[in-house]
Amino acid sequence: MMIVCSECKKEYSDQSKTCVHCGARNPNKMSVAGMFGVVLLFAVGLFVVLIVIGNMLYDPKEHSAQLAVEECRKAENDGLLSIDARRLARGACNLLEQEYKNKYGRAP
Ligand SMILES: [Zn+2]
Repeated sequence: MMIVCSECKKEYSDQSKTCVHCGARNPNKMSVAGMFGVVLLFAVGLFVVLIVIGNMLYDPKEHSAQLAVEECRKAENDGLLSIDARRLARGACNLLEQEYKNKYGRAP
């Protein structure tokens, strides 16, 4: 396919990197270095996005808060503990869970 040069307005092949008449760069034909730059930029962008998403999905503080509630519930249901101790544990668990819900907007 022939394209019209933006500089000299003459036609040249779109397969050519530069205009055969005046040497102006073909804007549709990217150089290997240019292509590499775009791929690199894309890879870096993707990498950054993945890290950001990863941090959003995995919050170490949230995870330990989840574990705390989990451990608390285990104590609450521990048949070896006295009724009073379990009642106390349940109160603490409910507090922990409420705190978690306030902080993260969902149940642990
Ligand atoms: Zn030209």
